[in-house]
Amino acid sequence: MLPLCFSISSVFPASIPEATLTKLAKLGIHNRFDLVLHLPLRYEDETRVTQIVELVHGVSTQVEGEIIHSEVMFRPRRSLICQLQDSSGVLHLRFLNFYPSQQKQLEVGKKIRALGEVRMGYFGMEMVHPKCRVAGESTPLKQALTPVYPTTAGLPQATLSKHIQAALNELELSDTLPADLLTRLKLPSFADSVRLLHNPPSDIDEDALLKRTHHAWLRIKFDELLAQQLSMRIHYRKRRSRNAPRLRALGHFTERLLQTLPFSLTTAQQKTLREISRDLEQAHPMQRLLQGDVGSGKTIVALLAALQAIENGYQVALMSPTEILAEQHYHKLRDWLEPLGISPVWLSGSLKKKDKQAAIERIAQGETQLAIGTHALFQDQVIFPKLGLVIVDEQHKFGVQQRLALRGKGDEPHQLMMSATPIPRTLAMSYYADLDVSVIDELPPGRTPVITKLVSDSRREEVLARVRQACLAGQQAYWICPLIDESDTLELQTALETHQRLAQALPDLRVGLVHGKLNTVEKLHAMAAFKTGETHLLVATTVVEVGVDVPNAAMMVIEHAERMGLAQLHQLRGRVGRGAAQSLCILLFQQPLSELARARLKIIYENTDGFEIAQQDLSLRGPGELLGARQSGVPMLRFADVTEDAALLNCAQAVADEMLCDFQQEARAHLQRWMANRQDYLHV
Ligand code: ADP
Ligand code: MG
Repeated sequence: MLPLCFSISSVFPASIPEATLTKLAKLGIHNRFDLVLHLPLRYEDETRVTQIVELVHGVSTQVEGEIIHSEVMFRPRRSLICQLQDSSGVLHLRFLNFYPSQQKQLEVGKKIRALGEVRMGYFGMEMVHPKCRVAGESTPLKQALTPVYPTTAGLPQATLSKHIQAALNELELSDTLPADLLTRLKLPSFADSVRLLHNPPSDIDEDALLKRTHHAWLRIKFDELLAQQLSMRIHYRKRRSRNAPRLRALGHFTERLLQTLPFSLTTAQQKTLREISRDLEQAHPMQRLLQGDVGSGKTIVALLAALQAIENGYQVALMSPTEILAEQHYHKLRDWLEPLGISPVWLSGSLKKKDKQAAIERIAQGETQLAIGTHALFQDQVIFPKLGLVIVDEQHKFGVQQRLALRGKGDEPHQLMMSATPIPRTLAMSYYADLDVSVIDELPPGRTPVITKLVSDSRREEVLARVRQACLAGQQAYWICPLIDESDTLELQTALETHQRLAQALPDLRVGLVHGKLNTVEKLHAMAAFKTGETHLLVATTVVEVGVDVPNAAMMVIEHAERMGLAQLHQLRGRVGRGAAQSLCILLFQQPLSELARARLKIIYENTDGFEIAQQDLSLRGPGELLGARQSGVPMLRFADVTEDAALLNCAQAVADEMLCDFQQEARAHLQRWMANRQDYLHV
């Protein structure tokens, strides 16, 4: 890791009281440089005075005049009411909370300047709680717009502003970008940019300031994106400098498997497989994310990658987020691998102690070529003597830390991460900059898209009839109960009740139940019964969200769809439409719908492409929600917006690579400036 030394000048001066420091820390301000980057939310214009007759409703304006009346009134509630007069008219100032000192400041005869938003009030045109200063005609007006900062209780704007101005004046704000680069990018210097944003001249394009499209803003956003790219690319390079076994594409097993498959790989599967295969042949660890929509066929690609490792005499670990999924992988892969003479081992936390021990031993002796399981695979007592490749399925379900912990085992294995939560390209560029990304961008042929219907909960009876009809005709269906709130108990209760109600309402169907509180054996049993067609209808909580594959299930009902996230709905819906039959997904919703819920349901109703859904979700909710667990370890962006600032992001990515080659000193200074507080991340 780059040595990060803290520049002395950035430390707070001893003159700032402890109480203030605590409040600053609340705002994420830990040194003077953070003060410089604490940028205004908006501005007030105290550079001019407006005549009272010219005041416009709803606009924040400064007026100047003499107090001609001042009294405390008790109706409609206790308030201080003053009348301010200038040569053009009279305006009411109203204060609901006020101190004696304020009352004194606003005594009759005082000359003051008041700044506030004008609106129609109890007494006509008024300002509520305007900012007031004693000032006459000869008091000079401010030269720059007055910044309004995000702050916290007990830390007045004036105090915050004073510290920020001091930091601006006293810190050396030298540029971290090489001069040539700045010229080429047509960006202003860092010092000019922050000074301007904290003290914009009165003639500035205020709209560009507020919309953050002003050049000064672009520079800040660029710097932030660059810091993010630099830190992630350094990670990437660092991991890449380690050694990994070269796993040649020998074709012993892979060719044989391909010959026995009942289908041929799609073009997209072939392309991603080539990318992975090439990585595995390198002498440094692969760090690749395989993205593909639900049902795009990632498993077979991962299996072929696993075989490439196995045919070189290495072990492979395949990790799934849930036991259901791990178990399903195990069965599916076992069927595919048996003809090749390979028998995988299954390892989960819920195995009997004896079985677990046996599995661990087989792994430790190197007998096991492929181990499949949950994160139990990576507990301390499991030792892989020859681990060549780690595959992480549904990686978004794991935190970054968990993922990175995999590195610690054995020599450096290659890593293949898989994700069915499609990430829009800009977001991937930003938050997955430490990974190479392969995308399966087509579905296997012959799939009929799932039909989605939005149905109000009041029409439940009709839905029941429809389920019954489908099941009696030989199909199967899922009935999904969502997480009502954070509490598992409630979720469980809902699932149990729903199961009971449905079993009563549909006496001629066999209704199964699977939820997170069942133990593994019960869970697997319920899944197996559904898979073999023994049960017609499976009531399930969102445990079936990821990966479950039962092709005969052609119908799904999702309760309270309005409460679920889009990625989750898309994942759930992906459980149907896996066979030849036309599939149907019914989203039950409860009235009334909030605007956001309505917007979300509309997106899922109108789109079947996971990437498109993710893109729209991104604009609806921002990146934090979309990235899920990953956000915990990745520096989120404060200023830049990956959607709006895609062009800057593109540029930052190229510049980061360039700087890491040609301007390492500057790259280090830049990271130090922007990431000094993010050492946690830098040392992951
Ligand atoms: P996901 O990408 O969601 O993990 P899976 O790997 O589970 O998808 O694949 C979904 C289904 O599609 C599986 O039943 C799988 O066997 C099948 N499949 C995968 N690739 C193809 C293909 N090229 N042609 C036809 N079916 C395929
Ligand atoms: Mg899958």
